[in-house]
Formats: sequence, structure tokens, C-alpha cells
Amino acid sequence: MGLRLFNTLNRAVEPFQPQDPERVGIYGCGPTIYGHAHIGNFRTFVFYDLVHRYLEWKGYGVHFVVNFTDVDDKTIRAAREAGVTIQEFTRPFGEAILEESDALGMQRFDLYPRATAYVDRMIELVQALLDRGLAYTTEDGSVFYDISAFKGYGKLSRKDLEKGRTGERVAADEYGKDDARDFALWKAVKEEDEAVGAAWDAPWGRGRPGWHLECSAMGLAEVGETLDLHLGGEDLIFPHHEDEIAQSEGATGKPFARTWLHVKHLKVEGQKMSKSLGNFITVRQLLDEGISPAAIRHQLLSAQYRRELNFTRAGLEASERAVERLLDFQDRLMRHPVGGKGGPEGGSLAEAARQARDAFEAAMDDDLNVAGALGALFTFLNEGNAILDRNPSIAGSQREAALELLESLDQVLGLLELGRREREVDDELAEWVADRVQARNEARTRQDWHEADAIRDELAEKGIVLEDGPDGTHWKRVGVGSETHG
Ligand code: AMP
Ligand code: ZN
Repeated sequence: MGLRLFNTLNRAVEPFQPQDPERVGIYGCGPTIYGHAHIGNFRTFVFYDLVHRYLEWKGYGVHFVVNFTDVDDKTIRAAREAGVTIQEFTRPFGEAILEESDALGMQRFDLYPRATAYVDRMIELVQALLDRGLAYTTEDGSVFYDISAFKGYGKLSRKDLEKGRTGERVAADEYGKDDARDFALWKAVKEEDEAVGAAWDAPWGRGRPGWHLECSAMGLAEVGETLDLHLGGEDLIFPHHEDEIAQSEGATGKPFARTWLHVKHLKVEGQKMSKSLGNFITVRQLLDEGISPAAIRHQLLSAQYRRELNFTRAGLEASERAVERLLDFQDRLMRHPVGGKGGPEGGSLAEAARQARDAFEAAMDDDLNVAGALGALFTFLNEGNAILDRNPSIAGSQREAALELLESLDQVLGLLELGRREREVDDELAEWVADRVQARNEARTRQDWHEADAIRDELAEKGIVLEDGPDGTHWKRVGVGSETHG
């Protein structure tokens, strides 16, 4: 069975059928770069990464675009406070997001368009909407979308728009609208916009684009008139995505996105994250604390995107142990003696790998149920460990099948890849450890237990953990701040 996704537009799980499997066109609403992205933003971005990787794993060609919002109320206000232009103010935050994305093992998307580079396209789009009678200018040179003129308005959010009419508040700067529900496509210039370089000339007057317009213009320009997938956090359904539909479909007459996926908001220690509650965590802070990036990634991935995800310190520790178990299993497989013919005692690794792959794919096909997919992987790990326990050696082909399965599933999950990076030690450290292990073995031969223990402690201080086994002493590096491992 193929991939099925819950499409917000139809409130139903549907088969995924891209227009061109060689080029699945995806647009994800990206960060507003006026500060460091928080852990909630990264739930959404790591989900984008999962979609990206899984579609490629299934053999699709993917064209994935994630924008950076560098001009809006927030970037303008922050740049003004800092006394610099929006370009100067936002640049370091854009760079930081990419660094943090890399640190969390995210694959790069194909393009990260910045809104300020697309103002010409935005002006063209506004002109098209004016020409089609879907927008109107006001005296001060702003342009608003006339939602009463667009038949499909409300189809994504299913808002009862008539009911919303009276309760709607009209922002002071939006004075002049025909209807309180109309939204700004273009905002007439204000002194503070000019001061931070956030003003452009347009046929109807100098000003700046509205936020919703930015995503329509970048999506149309870089992905196409009809996206296969449009992604974002659940807060964006209304008004942002509703307005993107009105703008894009109003201008092209074609469906803007076939499928809309929305990620449920992450909580922190059971609460909604907010600056006022003091539970606002950035990925930057976690990385600076020395928290394992693979553990952060694991926790962000651990729940299916439409389910609640509660980010906790205790959960991070559990995630760190889960990644350690995966790495340990991979190491064990690589070290396990190979030999003998026929299948191993008490179960076949190759057969377990086949089953794990099927279970993994079935879970991911079921609306990207990553919790189920991780379950399939850890079931395999348990079975694999039990088989290795019972078999002093296994056939080479069995071991290969197991290692290949781990590699394959990790193309989607990206956990081993990231964990390896963390466990990896530079050559100098490896040499030093080998030297200390040898000294310890010599001390043990002399029955100098005091010296042997001292060396073990010395290594532990550097995060190196020893394991004495029948085939000698092995060692591994554990993540900074991680639990001790027996
Ligand atoms: P922003 O930088 O606020 O424009 O948000 C960037 C992306 O993060 C959008 O897709 C938001 O919907 C998403 N987002 C914001 N807060 C959260 C949260 N707590 N959990 C998950 N996603 C979020
Ligand atoms: Zn957007």
C-alpha cells in the first residue's frame, strides 16, 4: 500500500498522488528570522525533514522549498530597536537556523528563498489580483484582498465567517478596509519601514508586502502553480494558509496545493510554550548546554505529527538512551564473529530485517506514523540482540542483512548518522585511548587493581566507557551530559 496523508483541506486521510513523481513540489512555511528558532519551530522543521527523507526513500524525486520570512511586523520592529536594516538584522538568524538544522541532522532543502528577494513577484501578484477585481486600493496606497469576491474563501479553515464578522478587531494600521475581514496584500509605507529598508515602490504606492502574500509569491515562483504538498504548523491554517489560497488561486485560477499538512504544536513540560511562562527553549540553548543533538532529534521525531508531543528533560534522557541502544546494536553487529553456514539458532536476522522493513514502511505510509516506525526498528533491535546472544557466530549474509536494514531505515530517521557523529572520536583521542587500555590491561595482568581502576576512571572523565568482553576490551564515547552506561 502506498503513502496516505491526512489532508487538512478535506479533513481525511487520502492516498498521496503527486502530479509528477519525479518532481514532487513541496512548500513549507519557514521561520520568521528575528530571533533564534525555538524547539516548537523545530518540531515542525524536523517534520519537514522527515517528509523530505521519506519521500526520497520511497523513490520520489523531491523539490522542497522552505522560505525565510525577513520582512514582516516582527523583523521590522526588532531591526528598528537594534538600529539596523532588516537585511542586517535578519542575516545572522538565517545563518543560525541553518547551523541548527545541520546540527539536528536535517538534510538541506532545495531552496530557502528570502521574502525580500521576491518583492517584484509579489507586486505582480497584487497587480493580477487587482486586475481580476479581487483586491482594492485604499487612499493611503495600501491594497486589500476583497474576500467577498473570492468564492472559495474559508474552505481550508472551515471558519464560520459570518459569525466572525462582528467580533473582528480592526488593527489601527488597517483602517480603510471595506470589510474588517479583508486582509492586507500591501501596506502603505510608514516612517519606521523606511528607516530599516523595508519599503519598495509599487504602481499603487510605496510600501511593503503583507506576510501572506510573501508565501504565495515564493511558492508560485519556486514550486509552481499547484503544489503537491504545503506544510506548516497548525497555527497557520487560519488566516495564513486560507489567505495564501485566496491569493494564489485568485490569481491563477488553479488549486494552490493538493494536500495540506499541519503539525500540532509542541508543548514543553506539559505547557504551551511562551516567553511569559519562562519555558521558551531554543535549540541553540540546548546545544550550548551540551545536550546530544541526536537525542533532541529523537524526541522531536518521537510522536506522529498530528499527535501531542510534550518536550521534557526526562524525555530527552530517554531519547539519549534510545539512540545509544541503536548505536550499541550496530557496533555489536559489526563486531560479532562471522562464520558457519546456514541460519542462526532461534531465528533469522535476515527474516527479522525483512519484517522490520515492512512494518516500518506500513507505519510511515499510514500518515507518517513515526512512532510506529520507531517501534518496528526497536522490535528488530530486541530480536537481533536475542539472536546474537544465542549465536557465538553468524553467517556473513545474515549480518549484512541486519546492517543494511539499519542503514536503510536511518536514511529516513537520521539518528544513527547523527549519533555516530557524536560518538566519533578524532584519531588522536583514539590513539590515546588505545594506549590507556593497553596500560590498564598490563596493570590487570600484574593484578594491580588500583592502577587498573585509576585508568578506567581517567578514561571515564573524558567520556570513554570500557566494556570487557570475551573477545577483549571495547570502548565507546558517550554523549556529553549523558547517563553512564554499563
Ligand atoms: P514562525 O517563525 O513563528 O513563523 O514559525 C515557523 C514555523 O514553526 C511555522 O510553521 C509555525 O507554525 C511553526 N511553529 C510555531 N510554534 C510551534 C510549536 N509550538 N510547535 C510546532 N510548530 C510551531
Ligand atoms: Zn507561509
